[in-house]
Amino acid sequence: MEANEKKQLEEMAQSGKKTIVLMSYNPIDGFIPGVHGDGRIVVYCWDRRLCSEACRDAARSITDAFYRDFNLRKDGQLFEHIFVYAGKNAIDEAIQAARMIGHDWKDGSDSGKRVTLVACDCEIEMKRRIAHESYTINMILCECGGKATMGRIAQQVIEGRNPKEISDYAR
Ligand SMILES: [Zn+2]
Repeated sequence: MEANEKKQLEEMAQSGKKTIVLMSYNPIDGFIPGVHGDGRIVVYCWDRRLCSEACRDAARSITDAFYRDFNLRKDGQLFEHIFVYAGKNAIDEAIQAARMIGHDWKDGSDSGKRVTLVACDCEIEMKRRIAHESYTINMILCECGGKATMGRIAQQVIEGRNPKEISDYAR
């Protein structure tokens, strides 16, 4: 992410408007692969990979990119909610990213479940259990690949819908 994009986030947070992050190792409707920040949302998405090894690489690399851009212990106050797609191909990496973000995200408040796994049906029981047991992670369902749902979430956030509402819906 460009330095001026991060500066925009910091200025927004100072005026009380926080940012929503979407992360997916798959494509997201409405976004070309890469990192996009416009203040209200920041999107990390990658090309569709055909094998699970490539998906795992992509999932690790988006988590790395996010952690290069932000230090959640210091930058935590910039964010309101983070959505992480968890499919089948890189399920362990996606869940690990969600856990790490939930753990590292410090901003002086105890805001509960503000990391949402956007989860397809594959291995759904495991995803449900993780969301159920976690203090920081909840879960909503999506189609395999998550492309349309992640795109819809981004659109709703841009239109001003509260991300907590989105993540409480269809749980
Ligand atoms: Zn699936």
